[in-house]
Amino acid sequence: MAAPASIFARIVAGEIPCQCVYQDQYVFAFLDVNPLSDGHTLIVTKRTVERVEDLTVDEGAALGRVLPLLVRRLTAVTGAEGCNILQNNGRVAGQEVPHVHFHIIPRRADDGLGYRWRAQKRSPAELETLAQRIRAQA
Ligand code: AMP
Repeated sequence: MAAPASIFARIVAGEIPCQCVYQDQYVFAFLDVNPLSDGHTLIVTKRTVERVEDLTVDEGAALGRVLPLLVRRLTAVTGAEGCNILQNNGRVAGQEVPHVHFHIIPRRADDGLGYRWRAQKRSPAELETLAQRIRAQA
């Protein structure tokens, strides 16, 4: 039996209403229904793909192409001073909808949202070893 379509697949197909702000051959963008701030937008792939590493080059390029355009539009409309661009990839990273999506969250200095993760210390040697391994990985 086929897996049930993700809620975003149903939005892209027009089966669930949304406030669309952009679409092209590969991607579809709409307002988040539970926004963290005014203008909080989701950009999803039109094809149902669960994780970033499974995108085609064209899908990845389309996501990259649309980000500056949407940030410009959202900044102009909301008057935001900056934004968070966030992609939760996998359940462990907080991904709730198993369909690739980028969040654009407009930010203002006084919005009270905050944003802090605890960074860890690594020595230059540890960083070098890790970078070598990543470069060598297919
Ligand atoms: P994530 O935790 O990265 O998977 O984010 C899922 C996002 O999808 C959340 O910010 C939800 O508010 C949003 N969301 C879920 N259902 C809908 C919907 N029907 N329309 C718009 N946004 C939605």
